[in-house]
Amino acid sequence: MTPTKLICDLFGHNYRVTKKVTNHVSEYTCKCCKKQLTTNSNGTLTELTPKRQEINYALERLYNGRMMRSQRKSNNSPAY
Ligand SMILES: [Zn+2]
Repeated sequence: MTPTKLICDLFGHNYRVTKKVTNHVSEYTCKCCKKQLTTNSNGTLTELTPKRQEINYALERLYNGRMMRSQRKSNNSPAY
């Protein structure tokens, strides 16, 4: 028996962002029961399964890589 689970069932989960994957995708964890959610490609919240976690990890790497590349590119581009 977990009383926190009961609180969540009664009052709803108390989610907070635990990780920002991209500008549009974040991971959330409920402060009470530790249930994890993530934003999916449709922009809605879905349960954070190991598969989703994998996707987010790939997304994060892709996103950060692209940011770094675009930064480097703008640094190397000639002044306007
Ligand atoms: Zn909860």
